[in-house]
Amino acid sequence: MKRAIFNRPGERLAIEDRPVPDPGPGEVLIKVERCGICGSDLKMTDPAGPVHFAEGSAPGHEYAGTIAAIGKGVEGWKTGDRVTAFPVGGCGHCAACDALDPYGCNTCTYLMGGFSEYTVAQAALVNRLPANLTFEDGALVEPLACGAQSIRLAGVGPQSRVLVLGAGATGLAATFWAARNGCTSLAVAATSDRRKAIAETMGARHFLHAGSDLSDHAAEVLGGAPDVVIECVGSAGIIGTGVEIVAPRGTIVSSGMCFDPDTLPTGLATMKQVRIQFSMAYLMEDFRRAIAALDAGHLEPRAMVTETIALSALPNMLETLRSDKSRCRVMVSPV
Ligand SMILES: [Zn+2]
Ligand SMILES: [Zn+2]
Repeated sequence: MKRAIFNRPGERLAIEDRPVPDPGPGEVLIKVERCGICGSDLKMTDPAGPVHFAEGSAPGHEYAGTIAAIGKGVEGWKTGDRVTAFPVGGCGHCAACDALDPYGCNTCTYLMGGFSEYTVAQAALVNRLPANLTFEDGALVEPLACGAQSIRLAGVGPQSRVLVLGAGATGLAATFWAARNGCTSLAVAATSDRRKAIAETMGARHFLHAGSDLSDHAAEVLGGAPDVVIECVGSAGIIGTGVEIVAPRGTIVSSGMCFDPDTLPTGLATMKQVRIQFSMAYLMEDFRRAIAALDAGHLEPRAMVTETIALSALPNMLETLRSDKSRCRVMVSPV
């Protein structure tokens, strides 16, 4: 089978021939139909970045497909079932794993391999794709679940005043969930207008230019300083921007995934008694909520998908996406 491999920093992804993996005990083999290219895929392969995928690893964590083979001890699944899965696995016997929370497991391991014809997943962390949903929808579940977690951690409700910083897929997903939670005082800020229409489709009531006057503009359109800032930019300094903008006793959720060291205006954060919460991934409830929302007809996230490419085009596309921001979610179709 064909599989995208990250060999080492500075080298483009390689499409290599690999044997189809055998699902181990408790695992299933999934024939991948769609896998989204995430901003983290760009960061973790960026030659200039501080953190990279392990050498020889197979990226691709936002995928959906069909079950192609079943490992020992797995019940409740059959070949041909349409699914989307967590791209990680846990030890299988700690409290976090019992709660289907592998990201909370001390031995959380990345399985990924979504940019391949086949990959394996832990059967306990596989979710059925409802008949109404496409594989593309299935590949949107993972990024949507990330947004669902950031909004859950912030405690966003109908009375919240929310500012989302950044209009990439993470910011758009957070916007979708803030709107679904009944928030109407909801603004997205970005450095360009490119994603204005998509942000509005996802539920943003206001789209702001992220300049030096952002604080004033946000307070103006939201009816006061935001009590929640969701940071989906992931660059050094952006949490500090959140501290400046957020209301006293406000919450900043950082989902942007910045790997560079950062400094904070700690005095201001202290005076405002700001809560800063980092967010990475999701719980099973977020994953299932994303599937349920799509299945209930809330299909606005489809607007995020701008293009579908073949696996062979992935290495070039990854390099293109580093500078060309005109695309939103690009899907890879490995078959
Ligand atoms: Zn992702
Ligand atoms: Zn565990």
